[in-house]
Amino acid sequence: FLDPTGRAKTMTGACVDITDLVRAREALKLADRQKDDFLATLAHELRNPLAPLRTGLDLLQNVSAGLPDQGRQVLGIMQRQLDHMVHLVDDLLDIARIRQGKILLRRESISLHAVLEQALEGVQALLDAQGQVVVWEGVDPALRVTGDLTRLVQVVGNLLNNAAKYTPRGGRVTLRGGEADQAGMLFIEVTDTGIGIPAQMLDHVFDRFAQVQQHLDHAQGGLGIGLSVVKGLVEMHGGRVSAESAGPGAGSRFRIWLPRSDTPKPAEARLPSRV
Ligand code: ADP
Repeated sequence: FLDPTGRAKTMTGACVDITDLVRAREALKLADRQKDDFLATLAHELRNPLAPLRTGLDLLQNVSAGLPDQGRQVLGIMQRQLDHMVHLVDDLLDIARIRQGKILLRRESISLHAVLEQALEGVQALLDAQGQVVVWEGVDPALRVTGDLTRLVQVVGNLLNNAAKYTPRGGRVTLRGGEADQAGMLFIEVTDTGIGIPAQMLDHVFDRFAQVQQHLDHAQGGLGIGLSVVKGLVEMHGGRVSAESAGPGAGSRFRIWLPRSDTPKPAEARLPSRV
């Protein structure tokens, strides 16, 4: 609140000079920008040595038949850890680029079905390995969105990957897509029967570095930036995201809405809305 002399009053009634507030805000903005620049540089520097490591491991893989069992096991562990590291560093790079406005999207008309199917293909092995049942019935092939296929596959893959990570063995992951209630929009939905999200965290899971629980198993754990990359990319496509859960143990549902690029069927011919 401003008092008659132009001084600002805080909620506790203390008086502060308005210019101090403006200065503090500018300082915070600068610190935030410096943090983004630091993260971008860090991600670049971490990325560089990963490519030769990958080449080296692929070469070893080619001759792995001649290795003893233990050697092959170690090679498998190194490859999985390297995949995990590449994934983390890519997320870091993406979030830095999104915040700096440096991501360029292709804008083409793509089938919603293709997006979902390709995303599922990328995560199927993980879901199978974790004994989770996948429910996926496909999407009307006529439904299309305008956007970047690789990036949208990354977005849905990220949600599916989280569903796999946060759902215990024997759980169910359901992938759906279709026409949204809102005219001109399509939806994508990933629902799991996993550990769920406490109500007070639902508004924060898309924030950078937000994590509901500290991961004890670091092979599974991330940095808490996957969902902020999802939100950033979806918003660059003109869409929006949401997270729902009835609470811990009750599973989670993540939804995305994207502008459609096909011509909607006449209203009377539309199937009943599912969202
Ligand atoms: P992380 O790398 O930690 O998975 P994300 O940004 O992808 O980072 O997710 C942020 C946090 O949101 C996670 O740490 C987890 O606590 C929570 N979360 C995300 N997806 C799910 C899910 N399907 N079920 C339960 N919690 C989830």
